[in-house]
Order: sequence, then structure tokens, then C-alpha cells
Amino acid sequence: MLLCVALTLAVAGTAPVAQGPSPAPITIVSPQGRRSLTVTTVNGGDYLSLDDVAAALGLTLRDDRVTGTTTVAAGGRSAVLTPERNVVSAQGRLVSLAAPPLRQDGRLVVTPEFVTRVVGVLLDRRVDFRRAGRLFVIGDLRVPRVVVRGEFAASAAQVTFEIAPATEPTVTRTGSELVVTFAADAVDAAVPTVPANPLLQGIRQGDGASLVLATGPRFQSHRATVQPIDAGTTRLVIDLLAAGAETLTPAAPAPPPPAPPAAGAGDPGPAPSLPPPGGFRTIVIDPGHGGEANGTEGPGGTLEKTVTLQVSRRLKALLEGRLGLRVILTREDDRTLDQDARAAIGNNNRADLFVSIHANAAVRPTVKGAEVYYLSVDRASLESRRAIQQPDEPLPQLGGGTRAIELILWETAQLRHLEQSATFAALIESALRGKVEMSPRPVQQAPFRVLVGANMPAVLVEIGYLSNPDEEKALTSAAHQDKVALAVFEAIAAFRGRLEKPAQ
Ligand SMILES: [Zn+2]
Repeated sequence: MLLCVALTLAVAGTAPVAQGPSPAPITIVSPQGRRSLTVTTVNGGDYLSLDDVAAALGLTLRDDRVTGTTTVAAGGRSAVLTPERNVVSAQGRLVSLAAPPLRQDGRLVVTPEFVTRVVGVLLDRRVDFRRAGRLFVIGDLRVPRVVVRGEFAASAAQVTFEIAPATEPTVTRTGSELVVTFAADAVDAAVPTVPANPLLQGIRQGDGASLVLATGPRFQSHRATVQPIDAGTTRLVIDLLAAGAETLTPAAPAPPPPAPPAAGAGDPGPAPSLPPPGGFRTIVIDPGHGGEANGTEGPGGTLEKTVTLQVSRRLKALLEGRLGLRVILTREDDRTLDQDARAAIGNNNRADLFVSIHANAAVRPTVKGAEVYYLSVDRASLESRRAIQQPDEPLPQLGGGTRAIELILWETAQLRHLEQSATFAALIESALRGKVEMSPRPVQQAPFRVLVGANMPAVLVEIGYLSNPDEEKALTSAAHQDKVALAVFEAIAAFRGRLEKPAQ
């Protein structure tokens, strides 16, 4: 039996609440350097000593005993606050705060909001509070947001860093630690807690813009891969390998994609290795974007999330009505859904095929045509696939303990299906051709996140360019949406036909 498991470390929206009396400090990052500030909890909220803030940022404070006010000044600018009052006068403007400055053990304390809204005015600079990483960023500094996830088994572990805006990381090993340094002034990262495992003991903030991985007793070597995800995001994947795992991973090039099937009817081309016939039942269709994610927007205001849902519904009706297949949409309505959750819906339903529907955009309005994608992989992913192909390894559970199962890491789930994904992509291309405009590069490979974790043949179809006014108009029409849905339907029927054809 095949089980697909992804252990994803939850990165909380805010830093974890510290155990014990003192909450985690907040760091000020400015062109002058870094300064860590002690945090006090008052009424359940974070407060900072105004003296500390003033010392860190070069502000002067003056108490007026007669009026009970305090004046905060910097470079000829000033603000006047009164303890217990939510309204502060900054450069003559009234700033209303969610929580007032307070007197606490004889000292004035203020909230992070006071620093961003009042101190920002005094410094005449942008002050950002990054809640997850507990950072103030003063002025125009490069402070990328880094989301850290990890997956762990006995002989391999993988830690993924998604870095936005795109920033170059470097990984160096010093003794038992791996230091990830980002080409930036600081890093805004919520560092997750690592479950007990023999390869990685923990992750913590390092000096400057760095994160430190403390390796465990079985750790022997690592491999780091950097790949751009899109213009705004870089992904760094670090594979941690146990002693002995190294010898299992000879370098191998990516498998060549199979030849596309001949366009003519009657010649199905060479069939890839096939599952037993009769097993093709469930299809997951993924309408791209949704909810808060509009996707791309056409010049006439058409949203990608709307078109993808409409086409997906038409495709579902065709598949159910004509082939009697079980069809699941990853979303039935306008809702937000992350990329991994979409693939997980395919995996949890043991889908035989996964089709993600999107519409494209380009800077030049003349760019047009449909494109079909399947996953591109780098060599390191293939190597890590070999490293983890050891069935029945005990797998640490999030709740503690271990369980022996066949392990497929999320990052490598799609690898075993690539050949069939390429075949399916070629079938969609030939079904679309003649019905709709095709891009000059109709079949491509790309590292789309939504395809990575899908444990079945999976493709992503960009059904046209919403940025092209003619295609935008076509994509909103029922007739054109039907054409697209019918082409994908025909490709699915052809793909099923190949699988169910008895092997020679
Ligand atoms: Zn899209």
C-alpha cells in the first residue's frame, strides 16, 4: 500500500509565545545595525520601554511634570504623548493608537504600533514591523521574508526555504552547523520547531541575515539547491543525508521526456509502463487561484480565478456525463487555497490524474496562445529521490513515536510520474491544437509548486493569455470555454484509453 506523507512544520503567523515570564525580544534593524529590545507583556500585548527605543534610534525624551506629558524628539521633529491616552500628537498631527503608552514600574512603555506610526514620523523614514520575525525595519533595507518548512525521515531530511523578494542564499558548513546566509541586511523568518529526528536538532536565527541549522548525530552531508520559483521568490532546498546515504546517490541526468505521440489518429505511439487496466477512475481538476488570489487580470477586468473555475466546471460536467468518471474540483467556489493543499486533495482521493487550469499574462499584449506544462526537476531532486527510496523506514510522527511506512517525500512525489505527465501534456497539446490558438512553445516544463507534491500524472494548462484583449474576450465566452473543456476532455479520454489498452 502506498501512503504519501508530508510533514510540514507549521510556521505560525506570529512568533510562538515564549514559555515563562519573558516574551521573545524584538529586534530593530536599521542602516546603523541591529539592536535587540526587551519586551514586556501588558494586558496580553507586547510593550517596549520607550527609553530603550530612544537609545536604539537616537531619540531624546523630555518629561513635562506640569502637564504630565512626554515629548519625544529627533532632528527637529517632535511628538507629545500622555500616558494612558490613545492619541499622540506627532509633528502637529494627531495619531490614534490601538493601545496607549503606559507607565509601568516608573518607566514609559509603548507598543510596536507606536514605533511604526509615531517614531516613523519623527525619523521621517519608513518603519515596518514584521510580526512573524519580530523585527522593526527602519528605512529601505533588504529584509526578505523567509518561510521555512521541513520533512524528516530516519536517513534523509529536507528543509525548504522560500525567500521573497528573491534573494541569493549561500550555505556553509561549520562543524555540526549549517549556516544559511542571505544576501540581505536582515531576515524576517519565523523559525519553526523541529520534531525529534536524528538529522536535525533545530533551526535558529544566526548573526546578521542568517539562519543556523544545528545538525543531529546521524547527519553526515548536505546538498543545497537554489531555484527561482518566479520573479519574486527564490527557493532553497537543503537535503540532509545520514551516514551511508551518500553512496546511494550517483549523479544522474534528468530522464528525457518521451517522444510526443503522433498527431494522426490510430497511432498511439509507444506506451509508457502502465498500471493494471481498469484502475482509471478519479480525476482532480484544479481551478487556479481563488479567494484572495485573483491570479492575473485582463485589460477588460476579467479575473483569472473566475475563468479557471468556469472552465473547470465545464470540464467536470463533460467527464462525469460522458465517461462516468469521479471528478473532484479542488475548489467549488471562490475561495483561497494554497498550492500544496491542491495536490493533497489529489493524493487524498487517490486521483489517477491531476489537471490544474490557469490563464496566462505577458507584458506585451500581443502574446497569445495556450500552453501545457509538466514539472521540471533538477538533479538534486532526483538524487534525493534515490536517497529516500528505502521502504519501511520508521517515520517520526508529529505527535511523537514512529511508524513504518513506505515514504514518499512531498518534494519528490511527482518524480515517479513524470513520464506519464509528459505523455498526458502532449495529448492535451494535440487536442487543443486546431481548436484554440496555441503558443509557439505549446509544451513546456516548469517548477510549478502545485505539481510538485502530486502523486499521480499531473499537468498545468494555461488556457490562453488574459493580457491579450482578443483572448480575454474569447476566454469569457461560453463557446470558447466549451472548446477548451472539450479538448482537455478528449485528451483525458485518450490518456485513459492508452492506460486501459492491454499491454502487448
Ligand atoms: Zn495562474
